[in-house]
Amino acid sequence: MSKILVTGGSGFIGSHLIDRLIKDGHQIISIDNLITGRSSNLDHLKGNPNLKTLHHDITEPIEIEEKIDCIFHMASPASPIDYIKIPKETLLTGSIGTKNMLDLAQKHSARFLLASTSEIYGDPLEHPQKETYYGNVNTIGPRSCYDEAKRFAEALTMAYHRTHKTNIVIARIFNTYGPRMRPNDGRVVPNFIIQSLKNEPLTINGDGTQTRSFCYIDDLIDGLAKLMFSEITGEAVNLGNPCETTINDFAEKIKTLTDSASGITYQDLPENDPIRRLPDITKAKRLLDWEPKTDISSGLKATIEYFKNNLQQTPTNQ
Ligand code: UDP
Repeated sequence: MSKILVTGGSGFIGSHLIDRLIKDGHQIISIDNLITGRSSNLDHLKGNPNLKTLHHDITEPIEIEEKIDCIFHMASPASPIDYIKIPKETLLTGSIGTKNMLDLAQKHSARFLLASTSEIYGDPLEHPQKETYYGNVNTIGPRSCYDEAKRFAEALTMAYHRTHKTNIVIARIFNTYGPRMRPNDGRVVPNFIIQSLKNEPLTINGDGTQTRSFCYIDDLIDGLAKLMFSEITGEAVNLGNPCETTINDFAEKIKTLTDSASGITYQDLPENDPIRRLPDITKAKRLLDWEPKTDISSGLKATIEYFKNNLQQTPTNQ
């Protein structure tokens, strides 16, 4: 059993990760400032002696008395409409927040996993994206607050590894979906599902020919756990589903699965919205024996069920 710190533990990915780690018999300390996370994501674990939750902003240093073995550093706004609304907080979480957590890792001699992102590849000129690709990011564009925060976080994590021999690994997480996504976080999965369930038009940005590759949350969590408990150190590994779809096809798929009468509304493509995104997961397959197992229909059905059961007239955010 390990003592594990999870930053962003009340978020979509963080809360699923905590479920998995508790199931595997670990003791968890979760830190969240609840700016984009929701405490309700951990309600089902209330009273569990293996979970302690701290309401704290990681841009402020924190001392933890108990000895920590591992840190999953997941905390950050992650949806474009969130981080574009709070760009300074996003940059400071990725920079100062990451520094504070790396200092903690160093102090506790803990293994550190940074949740990075496919966004570090920007609007990629290489396709699919391998870990060796350096990316194509507009440093002064609206998404740069997230992209550059994560690029800085990767660089800082590597600097601690090189300078202090901190035992680190970097997960580059591609689009992930599943239960507990915030209905109003503005991402395509909650938007299309909620719009379909309400028989409202699906809002496609641009002409819908842009692509994404969607990974079901359980598969991602499996990859994150495998990566943390592997021997890999000082490296970045892509975690995502190598199954590419256009946003047009994705909209049709969700309409079919929800048996919806919704039409489609086309609206402007946001500035710097990546045109294509597809992970090359050869490295994760080779080093972790990991690849996603959930097909898109089963994953979407489980997600649709969640929104059906949890939707109290929450407006979608476009
Ligand atoms: N998108 C869309 N309609 C929406 C929300 C998003 O067409 O209501 C598009 C968005 O412009 C992007 C893709 O879907 O091309 C994925 O967007 P999301 O915000 O889910 O994730 P990210 O852009 O970070 O990959």
